[in-house]
Amino acid sequence: MDIAANIKKYKEELPENVKLVAISKTKPNEDLLEAYNAGQRIFGENKIQEMTEKWEQLPKDIEWHMVGHVQRNKVKYMAPYIGLIHAVDSLKLLKEINKQAKKVDRKINCLLQIKIAEEDSKFGISAEEAEEILNSEAYSKMQNTEVIGLMGMATFTDDENQVKTEFMKLKSIFKDFKEKHPSLKELSLGMSDDYKIALECGTTMVRIGSNIFGERNYN
Ligand SMILES: *Cc1c(COP(=O)(O)O)cnc(C)c1O
Repeated sequence: MDIAANIKKYKEELPENVKLVAISKTKPNEDLLEAYNAGQRIFGENKIQEMTEKWEQLPKDIEWHMVGHVQRNKVKYMAPYIGLIHAVDSLKLLKEINKQAKKVDRKINCLLQIKIAEEDSKFGISAEEAEEILNSEAYSKMQNTEVIGLMGMATFTDDENQVKTEFMKLKSIFKDFKEKHPSLKELSLGMSDDYKIALECGTTMVRIGSNIFGERNYN
């Protein structure tokens, strides 16, 4: 894999309003540095411990995104530095994020993960549950966290029509939410295999791993 060339390719290909989150889970620091030296500054990981080790070792102007499922008892480890948490799926988790952010005197931005895939294995909540969180009194009182958008993952399938249907569903939920909650600006949709469909569906953040860094052996 020519990581630097891949970063350049995406920078040219993606519209200006779409952020590239380079998903570097399982990859060694050298690979991240190669992307960094090609100008990449946003990296995404799915394990808090691995991300924290990389944060300690790599340049401090990297913006770290947590894209995986988050266990509440681990929020404290990333609170000092995390840039964006993509997959918040409960009010309880949001409360913990707010609490830990307050302790370190930061504001942590989050996305709510909406379940759009058919499979049971995918995490996420319904649009109704997301709406309940955003309208809750508890959320309205949180001063150290803000929901700035929505995130989704399509079913793992070769059927592009199905992926597109699922993405369009989230696009319409996002449009609807934005009217009621102006703080929602970001839509995190699209990975290596489906980012082109995501671009058609109005994504503002694509999460690209294997197309940049090569196949992973695990995860
Ligand atoms: C691993 C991962 C990605 C990147 O997947 P690729 O297919 O390698 O691009 C994107 N989003 C999430 C949530 C992931 O866990």
